[in-house]
Amino acid sequence: MSVAVTKGQFCADELDLAANVNEYFQKAVQYLELDSNVRESLEKPEREIAVSFPVPMDDGITRIFNGYRVQHSSVRGPYKGGIRYHPSVNQEETKGLSSLMTWKCSLVDIPYGGAKGGVACNPGTMSQNELERLTRQYTKAIIRDIGPRRDIPAPDMNTDEQTMSWIYDEYSAFVGRSELAVVTGKPISLGGSLGRRESTGYGIAAVALDMLVVKGYDPLLSTAAIQGFGKVGSWAARRLSDAGIRIVAVSDISGVYHKKEGLSIGQMVEHLKNSSNGTLEGYYEDGLTKMPQEDIFGLDVTLLIPAAMENQITSKNVDKINAKIIVEGANGPITAIADAILEEKGIIVVPDILANAGGVVVSYFEWTQNLQGYSLDKDEIISRMDKKLKGGLRELLKTRDEKGTSLRFAAYIIAINRIVEAMNMRGWISHGKRAAI
Ligand code: GLU
Repeated sequence: MSVAVTKGQFCADELDLAANVNEYFQKAVQYLELDSNVRESLEKPEREIAVSFPVPMDDGITRIFNGYRVQHSSVRGPYKGGIRYHPSVNQEETKGLSSLMTWKCSLVDIPYGGAKGGVACNPGTMSQNELERLTRQYTKAIIRDIGPRRDIPAPDMNTDEQTMSWIYDEYSAFVGRSELAVVTGKPISLGGSLGRRESTGYGIAAVALDMLVVKGYDPLLSTAAIQGFGKVGSWAARRLSDAGIRIVAVSDISGVYHKKEGLSIGQMVEHLKNSSNGTLEGYYEDGLTKMPQEDIFGLDVTLLIPAAMENQITSKNVDKINAKIIVEGANGPITAIADAILEEKGIIVVPDILANAGGVVVSYFEWTQNLQGYSLDKDEIISRMDKKLKGGLRELLKTRDEKGTSLRFAAYIIAINRIVEAMNMRGWISHGKRAAI
């Protein structure tokens, strides 16, 4: 660990995502003249819902599962955010992720607040029937708290179009009418939007390409390493590879696939389509070497994209990082302490709340299409999304220069300020106190 950044400056548990996000928030508000009760009200979620529900398993035994929906802010519009299924899901983590959604939606200026949900379960060991029963039970448990103008869930880790279709089905049965706009990330055959599937990965690629150009790197001479080859990483890899970037490494739970001349992303995608376990296991092309998981972070590359899950770059491995620019594909892949060390080392980090916002931006397009009963074509959607993210990056760069801070704090400053403006306009702030940026 470097000299200037010491552990004592950060929260006690480095891997506590909610504490890390809160820390970014606390540091960012120092740049804003905020009333202390405004700060307090944004620190805590508006509502935290914890549910416990039975699910009959295939073996005839009924198990009890714990689920959450944390609704962080509705200042700028209905709550919005994904639902994840993972053994590590808990209320604290969901809380942190819900506030990230508030900042994300505000930063890219879409009319939503922020929320997150999840169920502690191990989807890898569950049958499709068990997942369906679990989803329907979880939906029933939170059904009064969601709705197209109230809280709009979407996919996240280990949930997908099928999960959203079950939620839509349960909710529509509950209200007695078809309510497409209650969830986003639905299949095209059920009110989903063209481009939603690709959106998060394409957005990451758009931001990464723009950042390369800003820093004077020629994309055609640039290299990238991508951690995660799922719903996010695989689309980012495709887009970057199409733009001429040499993708020298890609990893998933089956290991790191490395080839210094550049991997054939198209072939890898084909392999994944035919894979029985949804991983790159067994993938081979000439010149490829397999490396241990951790080695993805030590590669000498222009771009590093952690697109797997949170807490991947920490004080333990940050010194290995040899990339020029990191674009956060996942939510919270870098801990606060590692983030400070990277800044000190001059490694640019494009924060998650901008980099992976393509997903929720296209979710917003899906919702507006559902509410208005029309559909846009895919090129139109992708180009609107690209424009939004690139505009967001310009704004971040400008605020960073004005405030002399990192891109992450610039992002939080813009997002928080926009929310405070909305609180002012709604009359939620006493004595007409306004935020100054
Ligand atoms: N789960 C995604 C995220 O973290 C998408 C959320 C949404 O579309 O509402 O941004």
